[in-house]
Amino acid sequence: MAVDFQETNSCYCLIFYVMYKFSQVSQLRLKTCDSRLVQIMSLALQRSKVDFGIAEGNRTIQRQQELFKEGKSDKDGIHNLSKHNYNPSLAVDVYTWVEEKSNYATHNLCYLAGIVESVAIELGHEIRWGGNWDMDGVLINDQKLQDLVHFEIVK
Ligand SMILES: [Zn+2]
Repeated sequence: MAVDFQETNSCYCLIFYVMYKFSQVSQLRLKTCDSRLVQIMSLALQRSKVDFGIAEGNRTIQRQQELFKEGKSDKDGIHNLSKHNYNPSLAVDVYTWVEEKSNYATHNLCYLAGIVESVAIELGHEIRWGGNWDMDGVLINDQKLQDLVHFEIVK
């Protein structure tokens, strides 16, 4: 819990807020990502009222092929590369951290996606979320492959 003394016009307001920090493991994973993703995720963590961590950045081709075989990714790692297969990685996977446990509940990941996308716009980067692949106004319900933990750089 951090305490900040913020000035709003002539009125001083005492604001209590929780500041989250990435664990060392999350920091190491984030370091394998493109600097734009590092910027976006770092600012998102400052803004978010739900704690989150970094599950994966760069992914080896071997692991990509395993995920494809298990049906967890539509990229085979041979003809189709995932944005995780670039070095630095152009994609990042997250998890939310709620009540001392990793948490993949849709409501938490949707909340986080709103923050991440908003921060990305603010920083001038175009990002795609795995809950809205076609980037239209419909989340989740108009797509087959749900990857709500996944964010990637568009260009
Ligand atoms: Zn991913």
